Amino acid sequence: MSQPGVIIVGAGQGGLQAAISLRQEGYTGPVTLIGAEPGLPYQRPPLSKAYLAAGDAEALVLRPESFFAAKDITYLHSTTVEAIDRDARRVVLPGGRLDYDRLILATGTRNLRPPIAGLDRALDLRTLADAGRLREVLASTRRVAVIGGGFIGLEFAAAARKLGHQVAVIEAAERLMARVVSPLMSRYFAMLHHDWGTEVHLGQPAVAVDETGVTLADGAHVPADTVLLAAGVCPNTELAEAAELAVENGIRLDAQLRTSDPAIFALGDCASFPDPRSGRQVRLESVQAATDHARLIAAQIAKGATASYAAVPWFWSDQGDRKLQIAGLAGADAHEEILADGIVARVDAIGVAALETVNKAGAHMRARRLLAGHAPVSLDELKAAVLKTAA
Ligand SMILES: Cc1cc2nc3c(=O)[nH]c(=O)nc-3n(C[C@H](O)[C@H](O)[C@H](O)COP(=O)(O)OP(=O)(O)OC[C@H]3O[C@@H](n4cnc5c(N)ncnc54)[C@H](O)[C@@H]3O)c2cc1C
Repeated sequence: MSQPGVIIVGAGQGGLQAAISLRQEGYTGPVTLIGAEPGLPYQRPPLSKAYLAAGDAEALVLRPESFFAAKDITYLHSTTVEAIDRDARRVVLPGGRLDYDRLILATGTRNLRPPIAGLDRALDLRTLADAGRLREVLASTRRVAVIGGGFIGLEFAAAARKLGHQVAVIEAAERLMARVVSPLMSRYFAMLHHDWGTEVHLGQPAVAVDETGVTLADGAHVPADTVLLAAGVCPNTELAEAAELAVENGIRLDAQLRTSDPAIFALGDCASFPDPRSGRQVRLESVQAATDHARLIAAQIAKGATASYAAVPWFWSDQGDRKLQIAGLAGADAHEEILADGIVARVDAIGVAALETVNKAGAHMRARRLLAGHAPVSLDELKAAVLKTAA
């Protein structure tokens, strides 16, 4: 009987990388990549950046159709996996069942939908289809309100301003990007967006959306013809939960990215894993995490590699002409230290947790290299490495 092989559920950035890496690592069994979306796997980051202006969907495609035949990877698009039968090692599709030896869950996230009246009037920005719809609507409207002042909301706000729209950002927290950057960086970006002509509303959640715009909790009204919802995401864990895998802020993984079933791995936005530095169980929403997870899992499946996941997290966000980059991962317990203009360190009880930079690619790369070492990094070591030229 032929070997069932590896099935990957979710053909986003991480799912595709898992298929690519399995072949790169020499895996010769069947590989089946199953994705709910139509078309070829594509990159999401440009959807809130360059794609809004250029509208070039071809440029987003990660691998051409010929790649799948060349690498003997079966790619099923527009196909939603409905269930996992762990006892039989099978996944259930609308038209049948497929057996697996190893299963990789790469199901990503979907937009959170906070309790806001009339929210069905707001647009999403998660998929290429969402971005296409948004571009169409933007072509005939002037005033845009964005619910959510995180990376995606702010990237979109900067792009929409550049296209000449009136833009308002509504953030329920007291500061922008509060989950991911230091208070200093939040203030800096609030000033920047304000200087670019965007209205920034902080500390007031949106409570209603109607044809005139968005109403805030304090009764203020933000006029808008188009409303974008960018208020965070939740991991797609339903398949895992129904299969009784451990789920805790995402599909729970061990240090080798295995779920509570040794035949099933998970990766990327849908999974939580032990942060190698702090030991905390974390879930990251970044291309880096999804692709580095995929590489480690593929090496395990193909070659029996036993290494634990140890990659340094890093993030970027392009807002207007500013590239915010973060090397490392800081928790709420980290305090901030300004190292130079546009360079902020976040330090906790262990040492340096992260470095935030604006338009300082060299400093970001040096911090990433330093943080990749096994020993904790002190603030002095970071300064010595990063401030060499601070460029
Ligand atoms: C607008 C936008 C801008 C972004 N910008 C950045 C950025 O600048 N930098 C950065 O690092 N990250 C950015 N991200 C985040 C980044 O795109 C994600 O972290 C990355 O795509 C995660 O990869 P993934 O494989 O875990 O999930 P995804 O790429 O989200 O893919 C998951 C896929 O699984 C499919 N799926 C779910 N359930 C099923 C099922 N049952 N059956 C079949 N298929 C299923 C989904 O349809 C989806 O296509 C951005 C995201 C968005 C939306």
